[in-house]
Amino acid sequence: MIKIERGRPPKNTAIDKRREKELRKIRKLAKSRELKSGDFENLWSNPKVKDFLYESQHGKCCYCERKRDKRESDVEHFRPKAEVKEAGEDHQGYWWLAYSWENLLIACKTCNQEYKKSKFPLKDEGKRAYTEDCDLGEEEPFLINPLEENPELLIDYDLRETRLMAKAIGRCERGEKTVNELTGINDRRVMEERADKLKDYRICAYLKNNGSDELKLEADDRLREYVSPSSEFSGFARFYFQKEGCL
Ligand SMILES: [Zn+2]
Repeated sequence: MIKIERGRPPKNTAIDKRREKELRKIRKLAKSRELKSGDFENLWSNPKVKDFLYESQHGKCCYCERKRDKRESDVEHFRPKAEVKEAGEDHQGYWWLAYSWENLLIACKTCNQEYKKSKFPLKDEGKRAYTEDCDLGEEEPFLINPLEENPELLIDYDLRETRLMAKAIGRCERGEKTVNELTGINDRRVMEERADKLKDYRICAYLKNNGSDELKLEADDRLREYVSPSSEFSGFARFYFQKEGCL
């Protein structure tokens, strides 16, 4: 997981044009009954919207950093839009953020549909925002927000494990929950893909530290590619190469 740097969203998208109207509809519905995902017009799947999100994340999941085809990638609501598991029936979801750019990310189906779902635990449930007038800044979410903070300061990896588990630096609770409960970062399939990449990293680090001048240069090129934000598992790559003294 890495910090996502993205530029300004495009203008005049379906989201910009229809946000207010859709929110009026949802606001009214929320007063009369529980909301369901199907109540929302999924403007976030509009090509211009999804393309921007997908391309600014280089086609990678915002959590596990695996690349997936666009159609295998979900538009993820960081704060769930229609319900919040931890808050139960009292909460209608963060419906007012359903069409907010800063609440939209791209996630793989494993992370979104098998782990994150409608979870959004807070350190203090009493500070949860229930309406659009509440101050979200009061909330202290456990899930690390890759748009706002640098996950690499909270997460590293256990290289002794054959499956390369991600772990929380200093056992911090936010890191623990993010890698083990709220995302698929430590899903078996994701760990296997990470372990596969490590084989290439190991060769690269060996050549960089022990190869001829020519091989060192080649290893440098490869290393730059591995740690680039556009590459899969670049956060893990940075962790590994720093540990090996290559960065
Ligand atoms: Zn993922």
